[in-house]
Amino acid sequence: MEKREQLYAGKAKSVFATDDPKRVVMVYRNDTSAFDGKKLAQLDRKGMVNNKFNAFVMQKLQAAGIPTHFEQLLNDTESLVKKLDMVPLECVVRNYSAGSICRRYGLEEGLAVNPPTFELFLKSDKLGDPMVNESHALAFGWATQAQLDEMKALTYRVNDVLKKLFDDAGMMLVDYKLEFGTFEGELLLGDEFSPDGCRIWDKATRKKMDKDRFRQDLGDVIETYEEVGRRLGIRFD
Ligand code: ADP
Ligand code: UDP
Repeated sequence: MEKREQLYAGKAKSVFATDDPKRVVMVYRNDTSAFDGKKLAQLDRKGMVNNKFNAFVMQKLQAAGIPTHFEQLLNDTESLVKKLDMVPLECVVRNYSAGSICRRYGLEEGLAVNPPTFELFLKSDKLGDPMVNESHALAFGWATQAQLDEMKALTYRVNDVLKKLFDDAGMMLVDYKLEFGTFEGELLLGDEFSPDGCRIWDKATRKKMDKDRFRQDLGDVIETYEEVGRRLGIRFD
């Protein structure tokens, strides 16, 4: 496989073409952003930690029968993935209240959300990723009904797999965001799963172990991501 030109750069990753038109290289950078890109920083080792974290989780999900774009870890900061035609929606499941759901509904943080909620957001930095519903997605052509049904089912299946994985390692999976895309007509889980796109708390102390450490200036951001990874059995050296 030969890496070729950069196709686009997001806020945290860059996507490069390869000699295979169906595969791209995802480069995980140290760039970190929050609040729709209004808060920015460079965090040493973040690209490497999230790349290896994501590879571990994607392989666990694949082993559980969830189809993903992940193919292989190439080096510390790069992975080879199937090139997807992305659905421009973010799928969020919540097991405990935190973040925007607390602001939106006036809830205190840390309430059990039972049954876990499924929410859709339009992927648009310019609009601040507004929450949308299925009828918006259908009416404006962001996804078909079959894709919406499958994204929801897969996002909940991911919850079953990952809630247990984190629980067994002494952590709570509070919420997370997934993105999907199509490859040869099939819907696959794309993008990444890392502490940048989910909330993870220590089970005993409820210490925040995810991107809220960056959002809320709690310190030790990447050191804590590495601790989450180590508890799951990921090696970062
Ligand atoms: P953002 O778009 O939020 O700034 P990133 O910096 O993570 O995010 O950029 C990665 C970009 O790559 C996003 O636009 C994401 O939707 C897209 N993407 C993720 N997985 C794939 C894939 N398998 N094929 C093509 N594009 C992908
Ligand atoms: N999330 C994300 N990217 C986004 C928006 C949210 O990865 O553009 C993740 C976020 O890290 C959290 C979950 O989705 O794990 C729910 O986020 P929420 O709606 O609470 O928004 P926030 O308050 O985090 O902006």
